[in-house]
Amino acid sequence: MLSAEIIAIGSELLTPERSDTNSLWLTQKLNDIGIEVKLKTIVGDDEARLEETIRDAVKRSDIVITTGGLGPTEDDLTRQVSARALNKTLEYHNDLEVHLRARFRAWGREMPEINKRQAYIIEGADILPNPNGSAVGMYLSVDGKHIAIFPGPPREMQPMFENHVFDRLKVAAGDVIVKRRVLKISGMGESAVDEAIAPIYVTYPDVQTSILFNKSEVEAHLWLRSEDSIQADATLEEIAQKIVGKLGTAVFSIQGESMEEVVGRLLKKRGETLSVAESCTGGLIGSRLTDVPGSSAYFIEGVVSYSNTAKMRTLNVPEATLQEFGAVSAETAAAMAEGMRDAAKTDHSISVTGIAGPDGGSDEKPVGTVFVGYANGGRSKTMKIVLPGDRYLIRWRASQAALDYLRRQLLKAT
Ligand code: AMP
Ligand code: MG
Repeated sequence: MLSAEIIAIGSELLTPERSDTNSLWLTQKLNDIGIEVKLKTIVGDDEARLEETIRDAVKRSDIVITTGGLGPTEDDLTRQVSARALNKTLEYHNDLEVHLRARFRAWGREMPEINKRQAYIIEGADILPNPNGSAVGMYLSVDGKHIAIFPGPPREMQPMFENHVFDRLKVAAGDVIVKRRVLKISGMGESAVDEAIAPIYVTYPDVQTSILFNKSEVEAHLWLRSEDSIQADATLEEIAQKIVGKLGTAVFSIQGESMEEVVGRLLKKRGETLSVAESCTGGLIGSRLTDVPGSSAYFIEGVVSYSNTAKMRTLNVPEATLQEFGAVSAETAAAMAEGMRDAAKTDHSISVTGIAGPDGGSDEKPVGTVFVGYANGGRSKTMKIVLPGDRYLIRWRASQAALDYLRRQLLKAT
């Protein structure tokens, strides 16, 4: 298998303001054709460090990709430094200069003399045209190694990679394809998931598995490198089904969907509608649900009722309930869900009320205490949870818990 490394060049990428996103995009593309990224480096606009990095990279990796530093200004060093690191010279290409001058003229400007630098190309390199900017890219093959040099702006780098480099690397990588599956699991911790499913995935040594925790859910990533696409899909499906067999409804997606997509899909399939009454999540659930294209087919209405007054006025929560049990209580959550259902006339309603912190907790109801309510035509029910985390995480996890509670009601009803 071919190994790749990516070098992101530019001092701005070493500041707190900018991050290197090019390498994320490139890694995805490379992985898709079975090429593994073994190392990523971010180098500032520093001649010595850049030269050393490129020299080391071509020694150890089959594919070296650089982005950035091809601009016309003094700080853009990639052209001359990569030539030196590869023991090659730069060659002047008059046609490139002519082309650049014409471009500037088309923009109604004269080409500044410093842009002439962009007409110099490493000897033996193929020129990668750049319809979106002035810096062309370069591709060369040296001693069986593939070297691609791209400008930094993503809108220039991406089409250049796709149109001029992707196919060459695909040929170099051979017929290997990489298939990936992401399973998502709710209501279980990372180690509990791993303990339960490790006996399954260890019997597939060709499949790489990683289990990771992501805000409010556990993800099992399965991936497989193979020359047989159909067989690879079949293997991943077999593992996914075995994991579902073991964990049951805790697995909410075997296709990497988000919780709001899964809930939406279930509602759509049943032709049923939903409304949401939110207190501590402040509209997050409604926002997540409506992030999904086509959600208007099932999502009718969301209310953010933060104060007691709003809960009484908009959702018809009885004052006595708020006084006797408090705004954060099972009784209030149930009344919110019922009030929302009665107002919106939806098949299902969910509600959330809780303490997101950092203040407002008590011994009886500590920060993170959340009540989720659910109402349908005939009944209502509630669930209490105590969520860990800061305000951001508690709110996020509360939204996830509410959507998951709804999902489980929908599954039960079928
Ligand atoms: P360049 O002139 O080729 O060095 O790149 C100019 C601009 O491209 C930078 O100011 C960034 O906005 C963008 N850029 C450069 N490198 C990257 C990177 N690795 N990821 C995302 N954007 C980048
Ligand atoms: Mg730069």
